[in-house]
Amino acid sequence: MKTEKVPLESGIRDLITTLYPICRSITGDGVRETLRIMKNIIPLEIVEIPTGTKVFDWEVPREWNIRDAYIKDLKGNKIVDFKDSNLHVVNYSIPVDKIIPFSELKNHLHTLPEYPDWIPYRTSYYKETWGFCVQDSRVKSMKDEEYEVKIDSTLAEGHLTYGELYIPGSIKDEVLFSCHVCHPSLANDNLSGIAVMTYLARHLMTLKLHYSYRFLFVPGTIGSIVWLASNQDKLKNVKHGLIAVNLGDPGKINFKKTRLGNAEIDRAVEAILRDSGQPYGLIDFFPYGYDERQYNSPGINLPVGCIMRTPHNQFPEYHTSADNLDFIRAESLMDSYHKILNIVDLLESNRTYFNTQPYCEPQLGKRGLYRHIGGSNATVDQMALLWVLNLADGFHSLLDIAERSGESYESLKKAADLLLQHDLLEVRDGESRSKGIQV
Ligand code: ZN
Repeated sequence: MKTEKVPLESGIRDLITTLYPICRSITGDGVRETLRIMKNIIPLEIVEIPTGTKVFDWEVPREWNIRDAYIKDLKGNKIVDFKDSNLHVVNYSIPVDKIIPFSELKNHLHTLPEYPDWIPYRTSYYKETWGFCVQDSRVKSMKDEEYEVKIDSTLAEGHLTYGELYIPGSIKDEVLFSCHVCHPSLANDNLSGIAVMTYLARHLMTLKLHYSYRFLFVPGTIGSIVWLASNQDKLKNVKHGLIAVNLGDPGKINFKKTRLGNAEIDRAVEAILRDSGQPYGLIDFFPYGYDERQYNSPGINLPVGCIMRTPHNQFPEYHTSADNLDFIRAESLMDSYHKILNIVDLLESNRTYFNTQPYCEPQLGKRGLYRHIGGSNATVDQMALLWVLNLADGFHSLLDIAERSGESYESLKKAADLLLQHDLLEVRDGESRSKGIQV
């Protein structure tokens, strides 16, 4: 593992740029190569699960790899070339090598007539077929009667590969982050989440943490099912979870809630988004989308929400060649990173306190606390101090106080820290816990 400290913004951007050309799928060397590159930044464990392994109602599929693919006219001109874009081949296509009439070939061509210069992204993981995804404008120019098609792929016994990083904290209770790593050259859907999560993990590794953290980089659907089926003993430790996806597009942040909708992670994310003062969206859980479907299935029932900017299918570039490096924005990636870090900070610091002077208000002036309020150098909000003192009754966490008071979580945390310094608050559970992280 390299120890050099790459600046955050360029690190995230460079990782996306490096991973972009790789042809990933739910299995195969593309995922391996992706995880190997990420391992230069964080000490990922790379796990291989053999083809045929039974995982709940599913089975690990055969491993797919591809070396080349093209459509040529009979004069030898390449009309469609996998080397130009790995989206050109339907992901998981079986091998093909033949000359066929265009009337037959066209049944294997996928286009986007409404965006004639974009290449669609299509997969066929569980049904054996082959196909090409092509600009509609290019298909319209194909006038010959016959074409040569070649897909040099293999579908064989092998493995499904995923990456996992566990960062121990002071307790076993853990926060789970999960993102999919199975999409080929798509920047927002897949790579933005991978890169932001990689650098979040790198940062958390430098901190003293209350919770333990687990980062999963898994192929969509089958990868999370494999992990859940293989790690059922660990599920009881997962207290909060987030899927991270689509973190680089210019849209506002959206949060899709957990199945029950009222978990601490639901409330933590909402408080951070509220406090940001920026537009955001809240989406009730529905059983579609990303791997939250698996984590929130009734038998698993983990409180895992989904943090994203624009949801899947709600931007025209979604699952097309236009979801490229030009589509994602540095400021969106950084904003996503900092908001997720703020969520982590809230979970780390969300404590329940007791007021040590609960009989009427404590006299703040004699403790010098008035210099902290009202003056031009005030760093702690007066109302935040009073709310914390009032609700520090052993029943309200800082997050409860934020929701009740409308004060920002950050100002309440500062107030609580100040009151703790002056022995006006105490924690009676005896556990030493971090007061949050520096964000
Ligand atoms: Zn996708």
